[in-house]
Amino acid sequence: MPIPSLEPTLDPGALARALSGLHLIDGALVAPAGGRVFDVVNPATGAVIATAADGDAADVDRAVAAARAAQPAWAARPARERGKLLAECGRRLGAHVEELGRLIALETGKALRTESRVEASVLADMFVFFGGLGSELKGETVPFHPDMLTVTVREPLGVVGAIIPWNVPLLLMAMKIAPALVAGNTVVIKSAEEAPLTVLRVCQILADVLPAGVCNILAGDGPGCGAPLVTHPDVKKVTFTGSVETGRIVYKAAADKLIPVTLELGGKSPMIILPDADLDRAVAGAVSGMRFTRQGQSCTASSRIYVHDSLYDAFFERVRERVDALVMGDPLDERTDIGTVISPEQFAKVRDFIEKGRASGATATECSALPTDPALRKGLFLRPVVFTDIGPDAPPAREEIFGPVVCLFRWTDFDAVIEAANDSPYGLAATVWTNDLAKAMEATRRLEAGFVQVNQNLVVQPNLSYGGVKTSGLGKEATLESMLEHFTHKKTIIFNMT
Ligand code: NAD
Repeated sequence: MPIPSLEPTLDPGALARALSGLHLIDGALVAPAGGRVFDVVNPATGAVIATAADGDAADVDRAVAAARAAQPAWAARPARERGKLLAECGRRLGAHVEELGRLIALETGKALRTESRVEASVLADMFVFFGGLGSELKGETVPFHPDMLTVTVREPLGVVGAIIPWNVPLLLMAMKIAPALVAGNTVVIKSAEEAPLTVLRVCQILADVLPAGVCNILAGDGPGCGAPLVTHPDVKKVTFTGSVETGRIVYKAAADKLIPVTLELGGKSPMIILPDADLDRAVAGAVSGMRFTRQGQSCTASSRIYVHDSLYDAFFERVRERVDALVMGDPLDERTDIGTVISPEQFAKVRDFIEKGRASGATATECSALPTDPALRKGLFLRPVVFTDIGPDAPPAREEIFGPVVCLFRWTDFDAVIEAANDSPYGLAATVWTNDLAKAMEATRRLEAGFVQVNQNLVVQPNLSYGGVKTSGLGKEATLESMLEHFTHKKTIIFNMT
């Protein structure tokens, strides 16, 4: 099988075919031990574009053995040198932004202009950022005793298992593996069934810079490939992003081994609009915060919008107009704003939520228009839905839908709206829209979320701490502190001079 060239390419179909049916283990693209593959489907057309390796426990053994063998020599390099290599990875990835954006658009259905290109570019930034932090892996001197020199040093944990979902796989992968690698760990990544190709290409680019075995990636499903990675005795840390349900399984399996875990899980994020808010800004914030351009497939989507009674009617009309104007179509077409839902299962799940909302008595307003191109006839396009007159306990108002569905609620009492916003098992993100500084401060203090923004939507960028509270997760990502806390342990050393 010819190895895909490392030259950037703008033909995502050919690249997808070239990456078919492979893992990357010990620096080489290899076929799965069991020889099984599964189809990768373009959600915009229903066409099979490639296959992916269907990894199993034997592949996990191979990848973990390679990562374990590579780890001591990788950790023995000066931290700054590891950082320089990671920064070089970031630069190489930067030269592939257009290619990676196209490939991720092809396999996930996310629009190139509004979503996919941006994700590829943040991926490169994340590597450059963490590459610069090699020299920050510092210890302390401790004034324990005048005759004893007491110091702490940061040591890596060993082999890290990283499990990622399909919605923003490049960004999520970078937030996990860049800090893990700079800190001197080696990694085995398990990609999501729905999006195995672009992350494999990223690892191929990394493998051209990093020593063999330092970064390995497996494709496969959760029970067959993800579960044996978590339970593998040589995996010393697991970092997971996905649903609460799977997060619980991963956490329990890791607890049996007593290894540390980072979990980034689901969300049902509130957006609160106060009576003095700038309406134009709030409307634009709602449309982008809901990530309609990604068919709402975002863990931080502002899916519960609480609008003060005095602005409610105008807000609803303007949101409807704005969403109506978004163009749904071929994800690779530069004119497209909104791409597709990821899979037929996700499509059916979202439709079911919409039906349940209607059955609860709520009003569902469908916006935008389905594409008319016959080539997209089998595409998983869903019209965004805005629910009004919906009760707080209706399924679309309470549960994470992970689709283009938003619920609008009317409010008049500030205390009651904060209580309603917090009345959720999730605590990922929240936004507040107001010009009243005192109220904004109070809301940021009282809202139960990993990040709260005022007059601003969530930004995921290097150096901004990312992660949730409550069932939305355990641990934070994307900062120096997160690298030290989650990918190293602190060793205390005492030299007794007496
Ligand atoms: P999922 O939990 O179904 O799958 C996530 C990953 O876990 C996949 O790679 C899957 O193969 C793997 N997996 C499944 N079962 C496993 C098992 N038993 N052991 C080990 N691994 C297993 O989630 P999904 O549907 O792919 O992604 C959507 C979910 O991810 C949503 O709930 C969303 O909110 C969440 N998410 C959270 C964040 C965040 O940062 N908080 C970001 C993106 C997505």
